[in-house]
Amino acid sequence: MQIIIFGSPGVGKGTQAKILAAKLNIPHISTGDILREAIKNQTELGKKAKEIVDRGELVPDDIMGGIVKETLSNPRCSSGFILDGYPRTINQAKILEEIFTTIRNEKHFLIKLDADDEIIIDRLTNRLVCSKCGNILNKSEVKENFSCPVCNSSNSYVKRADDDESVIRRRLKVYHETTSPVFDFYKDKAEIIEIDGSLNIEMVTDEILKQLK
Ligand code: AMP
Repeated sequence: MQIIIFGSPGVGKGTQAKILAAKLNIPHISTGDILREAIKNQTELGKKAKEIVDRGELVPDDIMGGIVKETLSNPRCSSGFILDGYPRTINQAKILEEIFTTIRNEKHFLIKLDADDEIIIDRLTNRLVCSKCGNILNKSEVKENFSCPVCNSSNSYVKRADDDESVIRRRLKVYHETTSPVFDFYKDKAEIIEIDGSLNIEMVTDEILKQLK
């Protein structure tokens, strides 16, 4: 099953993608995670991307297209995948359509999650991420000397560099101006599933699974 999970930053794409990947037994491909890993390891890609990601802007399409092509061509993606954070521009969507023709091309699903910007800003300013396994929690759930419920690391929850309020607003602006139109591009190319992303995590997952069937 080839799934694109789409929506604004903080709407719950990463959270839902992780749950769905486990339930459907397909890999979760997050372009944001790939970039953050490259930045952490100070690779050539990481060095090019760091400042752009920190500003909340988009890494150029040619760089992202190369990453996605290489990742989706890996045999572990041959029985499907859930793509999170890509495409973010019409040009990236066109590149992805080309990639689909070179790998196994089947009807893909686009799951669109929606929530108001004020909900998003509140979620992202209070979001902490496990620096070891990437699990996401709200600040209120992380106590002193806290161990990660997923990987058991202690004191591993940190704020993402781009979850600063001014950068969040920049990311939302980029989403509304540049990424949002990608949805129209897919209207006749993918099976569209639209879900209210302001619901709680379990409700969103249930709704997605119901509609995928
Ligand atoms: P995310 O984790 O999906 O919110 O992505 C974090 C940041 O990585 C974004 O704000 C962009 O700077 C960069 N990024 C991730 N995916 C893409 C993409 N498809 N195109 C351009 N930049 C991206």
